[in-house]
Amino acid sequence: MPHTSLKIVRTVADLRAQVAAWKAAGDEVVLIPTMGALHDGHLTLIKLGQTKARRTVASVFVNPKQFAPHEDFDAYPRGEAIDAEKLASVGCDLMFAPDASEMYAPGFSTAINVAGVSEPLEGAARPQFFGGVATVVAKLLIQSQADYAVFGEKDYQQLQVIKRLVRDLDLPVEIVSAPTARAEDGLALSSRNAYLSVEERAIAAALPQALRAAAKAVADGGRIDAAEAAGKAALAAAGFGQIDYLDIREASDLSKLGPGPIGQAQGRILVAAWLGKTRLIDNMAVA
Ligand code: AMP
Repeated sequence: MPHTSLKIVRTVADLRAQVAAWKAAGDEVVLIPTMGALHDGHLTLIKLGQTKARRTVASVFVNPKQFAPHEDFDAYPRGEAIDAEKLASVGCDLMFAPDASEMYAPGFSTAINVAGVSEPLEGAARPQFFGGVATVVAKLLIQSQADYAVFGEKDYQQLQVIKRLVRDLDLPVEIVSAPTARAEDGLALSSRNAYLSVEERAIAAALPQALRAAAKAVADGGRIDAAEAAGKAALAAAGFGQIDYLDIREASDLSKLGPGPIGQAQGRILVAAWLGKTRLIDNMAVA
């Protein structure tokens, strides 16, 4: 039930003390990692988490390790007070908001590399991204000792990377995936949508439309190469700039499919494309 008793902790020691107290009382704990600038999509993850475990912990940490020097780490939207209000409004129990020095002590020198599934698509376009994500998520899971952790399908490749990480390292946590929350016109909710101008925001709805059309064409038996080409053409016609990728891939290991019809394979269409100075990503099942 929604309430306003959100507790905020900033150190691993305080996080662990609270989680230990809950576990001693017999409660399970679910972690929802975020970078803040919370929107309704994040809140659906909290609500899904509440159906899994009695106690919900949201982490809010803009992870410097997953941004390249030329990327938007400094510009990334931040607003802790509003984030705390939103978490309280849905009855989240705890916000873990460490600063960078709490997360990465001087001399920090360990990195986690999840080979394979992290390499194509986002991994090719942003070479340091998944190393940074895997390292911080491993730390958060170990720090929190959570029984469950919720991740959004919005970041579909990230979800697959984290599932692989948890399996490979035997981390004692169940990964729960949450469907993508969308605006009325279909655009996936994202903290980065705040970068879009009014004109760009109107154009952005072409992204999910192009994905839906391409996914349907393939589900109906069309060729994968033709659907990918049509999707890219639709984005260019709508006003998108560079398309980092628009690919139909195998849904769990993200290996290449096509160029012909999909046959019996499970497909996922994934895109990253630029609208002005903003990079948007999205994905859908091919079904
Ligand atoms: P972020 O703060 O963008 O790193 O996202 C934190 C978590 O929220 C990740 O697991 C994301 O996949 C998830 N998320 C972000 N946007 C959405 C959305 N529109 N629908 C569902 N999950 C989302």
